[in-house]
Amino acid sequence: MDVLNFWLDSYKDPMFLKFPIATLVLAFVGFLVFALPLTLLAYLDPEPLRKYKVQQKPFQVKKYFWPSIGRHCMNAAIMAVVICFLWPFLRLISNGRIVDGAMPAWYIIVAQILFFIYFDDFILFWIHRALHSGWLKRNVHSVHHRITRACAIDNAYFHWIEYLMIGGVGTVAPLITGTHIYVLYGWILFRQFQGADGHCGYVFPWNPAHLIPLYEGGDYHDFHHSSYNGNYAGYLNYLDRFTQTYSGAYLRWKESRALAGAKGFLKLNWLGGGDKKADVELGGNS
Ligand SMILES: [Zn+2]
Ligand SMILES: [Zn+2]
Repeated sequence: MDVLNFWLDSYKDPMFLKFPIATLVLAFVGFLVFALPLTLLAYLDPEPLRKYKVQQKPFQVKKYFWPSIGRHCMNAAIMAVVICFLWPFLRLISNGRIVDGAMPAWYIIVAQILFFIYFDDFILFWIHRALHSGWLKRNVHSVHHRITRACAIDNAYFHWIEYLMIGGVGTVAPLITGTHIYVLYGWILFRQFQGADGHCGYVFPWNPAHLIPLYEGGDYHDFHHSSYNGNYAGYLNYLDRFTQTYSGAYLRWKESRALAGAKGFLKLNWLGGGDKKADVELGGNS
């Protein structure tokens, strides 16, 4: 009976609405706010912006728009059920770590967000590698890889298991450091921007995300979709560099852009490395 009371009482905690429910709503709405304008851009495919497209093939907006919206809604509903069920446990591990009192100093906020970005990308890389093997690849991740010419809304086109994995991971770093609930909201919104930007199919030189050291831009994950192998990190580049898992087609694209004078910001040298196997099997992104 005590266990039952503990379970039921946990839902009276105001943090139930402020932490898991509000972050899920923010993630759901925030993604649409970032993704819909970029998806409209892909749908219109305006001539002056074609020089910024990664692939010079037509987008598949009509084919995947409503299926992506459908999966976005279904996956969020599944996540809502899961977090409601797990909340008593989540409450135990987040109590005193996700707080809603006075805001911390600005430099604490900046340091935490930077840690979240790099830690999250590190974990996503290894999860993504796992998603590219065995049962997970055949039955879960292959759904997301039906998309070969991505636009922003396609970041919602996930199997629900992958959605739970990736969505859940986003709260690991904040739980490790402890953080203010508003900082967590900012982090969740940035993550939605990153998902939309990574799938948008364009690489804009004025994208402010390039100010983040090692941030790759929309071309990095686009080549993962067109090649299926290589470029496994979320949005940074160093792990693919160290593990030699860059898409070979992506390296050639970066080299050709560097030779053409495209500017990077704190980018690693593109020459050398790359996933030769992916290169041979899939023949690149042209
Ligand atoms: Zn993949
Ligand atoms: Zn993707």
